[in-house]
This record gives sequence, C-alpha cells and structure tokens, in this order.
Amino acid sequence: MKDISAIRADFPILGRTVYDKDLVYFDNGATTQKPKCVIDAATEVFTLYNSNIHRGVHFLSDMASEEYENARERVRSFINAGSREEVVFTAGATASINAVAFSFGERFVGRGDEILISHLEHHANIVPWQMLCSRKQAVLKVIPVDDNGEIIFEEYLKLLGKKTRLVSVAQVSNALGVILPVDRIISAAHSMNIPVLVDGAQGVQHGVSDVRKMDCDFYVFSGHKIYGPAGIGVLYGKAELLSELPPYQGGGDMVKNVPFEKTSYNDLPFKFEAGTVNFPGAIGLARALEYLLSLGMDNIKQRERDLLEYATQQMLSVKGLKIYGNSPEKISVISFLLKDIHMYDTGMILDKLGIAVRTGTHCAQPVMDRFGIEGTVRASMCFYNTREEIDRLCAGIEKVISMFS
Ligand code: PMP
Repeated sequence: MKDISAIRADFPILGRTVYDKDLVYFDNGATTQKPKCVIDAATEVFTLYNSNIHRGVHFLSDMASEEYENARERVRSFINAGSREEVVFTAGATASINAVAFSFGERFVGRGDEILISHLEHHANIVPWQMLCSRKQAVLKVIPVDDNGEIIFEEYLKLLGKKTRLVSVAQVSNALGVILPVDRIISAAHSMNIPVLVDGAQGVQHGVSDVRKMDCDFYVFSGHKIYGPAGIGVLYGKAELLSELPPYQGGGDMVKNVPFEKTSYNDLPFKFEAGTVNFPGAIGLARALEYLLSLGMDNIKQRERDLLEYATQQMLSVKGLKIYGNSPEKISVISFLLKDIHMYDTGMILDKLGIAVRTGTHCAQPVMDRFGIEGTVRASMCFYNTREEIDRLCAGIEKVISMFS
C-alpha cells in the first residue's frame, strides 16, 4: 500500500490546523474527508461538460450522460452487482431506505405484516419502517442485542415468521462499530423466502462488499461516507425485485410515454431516478471508488484493523474509560465514556485540542437506551489516520480526566 504520508497528502484538509493545532480527524463515521481526485472531479464537471444528462442531443449533454453512466458502471463493479439496471442513484442511504420502505411497502406490505430490524439500527433504518407500519398497520419487530452489542441470533431466528415481509439490518452499527453477521442473517431469511435489505452506510468503505456473494436483496450506502461527495447515494436491488416495485417519485426521466390517461414508466434503473439527479455527485463518487481501488480494499481493511487494535489497547489502559461494543467483529470505531464525566465535556475539550470526535446518540437512540446511557464519545478511524493521532487522543483523554479529578 502507498506510504501513509503520501496517502495523507492526497487529502488536502488533513494538512490544516484547528485552534493552531494539527487537526486529528476521528469523525469518519459521520463523514469522510475527500481526496484531491474527488475535489478535482467536481471542478472538471463544472468547467468542462456541465449539462443536463439523458436529455440533450448536444455534445456536452452526451458527455455528461456518458460520465454519469460510467459512474454507474463503476459502482456496479465495486459492489459486484449483476447489472447496471440494479444500481439506482439516490441522495444517500437515508433516501435509499425511504425509497424501499415506500415502494416495497406499497407493493408487498399489508395490515398485520411484520418488518424486522435490529436494536442497533441508525434512525434512518428505523423511522422509515415506523412510517410504513403506521401507513399500512403493519408491525415493526426488533432483534435484541447482548451486552457486547451483538445481535442475539437465536432471538432473530424466533422472530422470523410467516408474517415477516422484510428484514432490514445494518452491515455495521454506526454507534458501536460492531459488524453484524449479515451472511447468516440473509441465509436464515432466505430459507423462508424473506428478502433482506442491508444498510451498508458503515460497511461499504471498510472492505470488499460483494452484493452477489452476500446475496442481499437490497443494499444501500451514501457517497459522503466513502470519500465521495454528499447528496449522492446508492440503492442496489436485485433486478427481478426492483422490476416488481412501483416507482416512489414521479417526474422527468422516469417515464416512457406520458398521455394524460396513463403514464408508462421507464426501464430500470431510470424508473427510480425521477428528475435531474445529482450527476456531479455520482461522478465524484466513482472517482472516490477508483481511489480506494488504487489503494486496495484489503490493504485498507488491514490498516484499519491495525489502528483498531492499537487504539483499543491504548484506550483500555486509561483508567475509568469504558468501551461500548466489545465484539471481536468490529470496524475501526471506539465508542466510549469516561467515568463521571459527561460525553459533551469530553468532546468539547478534545475539540479544543484539535481532535474531532462525535458525541451523542449517533442517531441510534435505541441502542443507547439498551445500554442505559444518553450517548457516547465516538472515535471513528480510517486508513488515513495514524498511531500518533491515537496517542494524541489518549493524551487528550488523560487531560480531560485530570481536569475533572
Ligand atoms: N445508516 C447508517 C448505519 C448510518 O451510519 C448512517 C449515517 N450516519 C445512515 C444510515 C444515514 O446516512 P445518510 O445520512 O448519509 O443518508
């Protein structure tokens, strides 16, 4: 893999200071920083070929359309989808889940049916299902988790039943960093012909995510969490399933023929892409994926595993620090609290030391309730972070403790 100083040089923001201190950015779970190639992609679109896609016959429109469709192909191959028809661009993971909740819900969910999620979910994978359940008088069921933050698999098996219409689970918990056993979750659901949506918002950037190997029915993620721009995301769905679903938004580009009597819809994936989509975002996302491939997804995984091991070791040696989410299957996230010190105090003091961490419920209130806490401090690391930065975090934490003792 490329040398770490060369990798860091690819991300201009990592060179800045905050409060006259070198920035330590440990909020990658919320959003990741952008390599120069992604920043340049936006400039290229707007200086070279900005034009609405799929509409014009002129040179610029052709070029923008081609780049946009190339971006779709890049995403397809990155997640190993079977065809480009199965890759829908959306505004992000939230938009993708809402699209499935509406569209799948419209087609397949009725009164008394059940949707199954886990106790670890982000609000984006809870609220759309609650809204669907209230529209359709369906029932939301929740897979419980144990004290390590792992789902209790036997309970999951018990919850799967004749009324279950869909299982929707995170690949990785954003609040704790715990990896869910999605392969086993999917094969158990499929043995009862129940489709599964995997929320890959915190998984896709940390290693190879092969949707065909996983055999999930839907897979969603956001561009901004995988080093691409905000406002773009992906909804992958198996073609046979997507073709059965009604569109969830109407407008331009998702149609074939529009007489007043009855409109006929466009083919996949355009049926789900109404209006002018965020094509500069899609092109930027494709650049980000190319960048990751140039580093190697396995190399990224290895580096992040090393950072997690080092950070866990160092942080566990801090007296009074408790880590939430102690599963051996984790990504490079440490969610913690300091004894008798409020998370916001910890976060604010670390900020003044130039260290960006996230504090709060991480939009996953139910899992915080499960542990009987208001929230945690979350340090989410990625391949451009270093052991030295982890040392600075630990020194910062010691400082917080000394200020409150
Ligand atoms: N799911 C998970 C697991 C997440 O971590 C997030 C973002 N924190 C989302 C969904 C929603 O992503 P976005 O806000 O980019 O739509």
